[in-house]
Amino acid sequence: MSRQALDELKQQIPLLDYLQAQDWQPARHLSNGRLLGLCPLHSDHKPSFLVDPGKSLFYCYGCGRGGDVIRFAELYHQVKFPQALALLHQWRGLAPLLYEVAGFYRMQLHRHGEAVAYLRQRGVHSPELIEHMGIGYAPGGCLRSWITRLGYPLHVLRQAGLVTAAGYDAFIHRIVFPLQGNLYGRSISTSAPPHRFLPGAKGGLYSWQQVRHGPEVILVEGLFDYAVLWQAGFHNVTCLMGNHLNAHQYGQLCDGPRTVYLAFDADANGSGQQAAQSLACRLREQGIHVRRVSLPEGHDPNSFFLQAGDARQFQSLLEAALP
Ligand SMILES: [Zn+2]
Repeated sequence: MSRQALDELKQQIPLLDYLQAQDWQPARHLSNGRLLGLCPLHSDHKPSFLVDPGKSLFYCYGCGRGGDVIRFAELYHQVKFPQALALLHQWRGLAPLLYEVAGFYRMQLHRHGEAVAYLRQRGVHSPELIEHMGIGYAPGGCLRSWITRLGYPLHVLRQAGLVTAAGYDAFIHRIVFPLQGNLYGRSISTSAPPHRFLPGAKGGLYSWQQVRHGPEVILVEGLFDYAVLWQAGFHNVTCLMGNHLNAHQYGQLCDGPRTVYLAFDADANGSGQQAAQSLACRLREQGIHVRRVSLPEGHDPNSFFLQAGDARQFQSLLEAALP
């Protein structure tokens, strides 16, 4: 890639936009428009990460690292320069589109009683939670026409996986959760496969920036588990979307000292508990404290709260969790 192409890429992706897309928020505004916040690159407790939006540069007084948006992507995703460029290219192309699409699906949610009813049935009712997670609904059959009117060509929608090869909306009758660089759609009908992502990486741990600085993190398998826990006041929860961590998620969990509560499904075939056990071993090797939460058999956190479990009872499960 030429010097000029690199400069162009950097101009198209302001560092601050990219940081904010990773949930970074400034804690203080300094002179000349500079911002100071917690460092997303190390376990930071007092704001030491300085951002100069005008120059699109950062510097951390804690870990001593600094540079431009490409350097940030290298450090943050723990990848080499060419992969960092690839990630930024992909983000530049996809981010504005996914932002529009998630907004469109959010608008649809309250226009479709069946979607709201499904959320209720899964224990999701707080408007604050729905806003926090940006939950939307894909009714199907209306995204393509709306988004092409905004000027996105059909081939871009196909490439992103939002529209099928035959030209139909890919997400139909699905509750939609925006993720970092992806969307997750949960089917509300029993005849379709329940889980669907857009092609590409499912990203890091859900809402990681908001929990990573605390001493304790609750890790769950699914977004509906996340939802009921957050709603019950456990805001130190994150989710891996499945029961296997990708390398990025593993790196995140191990990026500083903390206690991780594994609240995986207690399904009858034992797959959730097996996954929890093997993950516990791998995390301990990295010096992370792990506790395995024992849910009543046949339950996941979502069904636990649905069947009249409350915050106090879940707190007791956390306290009783074995190392
Ligand atoms: Zn730092």
